Amino acid sequence: MYYEPEEFVLSGLPKLLKGFDSLDAVFATYNSVHGYHDGLVHVYNSRQGLRITVQSGCQPCHKEGNKILRYAMVSGNISLGMRVYDKLQAIGDEAQSLVEAKVMSNGFQADTPIFGVVYAGYTSFQHSFQFAKSLRSINHDSKVVILTCDCDLERKSLILDAAVASGTIDDYIVTFMCGGNIGMKMILNGLIDFWG
Ligand SMILES: [Zn+2]
Repeated sequence: MYYEPEEFVLSGLPKLLKGFDSLDAVFATYNSVHGYHDGLVHVYNSRQGLRITVQSGCQPCHKEGNKILRYAMVSGNISLGMRVYDKLQAIGDEAQSLVEAKVMSNGFQADTPIFGVVYAGYTSFQHSFQFAKSLRSINHDSKVVILTCDCDLERKSLILDAAVASGTIDDYIVTFMCGGNIGMKMILNGLIDFWG
């Protein structure tokens, strides 16, 4: 089962990160994290050991594309829908690849566990999902969660429930706002508060 962002911050995150005294947190999204720029986040926690990096694609919302996609679905124009979907997916995948390259150049320390928060939305879902799994395998103690939107949730839930059950990711969180910008921000702020 999944968390909603508020729930994750209150109960999922403290459970997942209990007992860590150092953490390399990375927020990776081909969209953006609301209110945060790309790069190192300045944290002023009294407790040491927390590093937070945001790696975003700063993808603008593809409002036009989404509008056409919705129109195609409503009017039953399957071929138009497929064309637009393929185009949006190609744009999403490309943005995701750039984000992954930036994350991997972060310089993770072998002895510091990673806390990865990866946004895997509607476009580029598979790509982002594979990346989240690979991030978790970098360090033994690492934790990785996926934030996704509720578009096509039935299909994504099957995949994500199986991934949690098999331990390839730790949790997933569903936001009802496409793009995940606000959800990512809530988790990031929640992490800072939790760390203390
Ligand atoms: Zn969505």
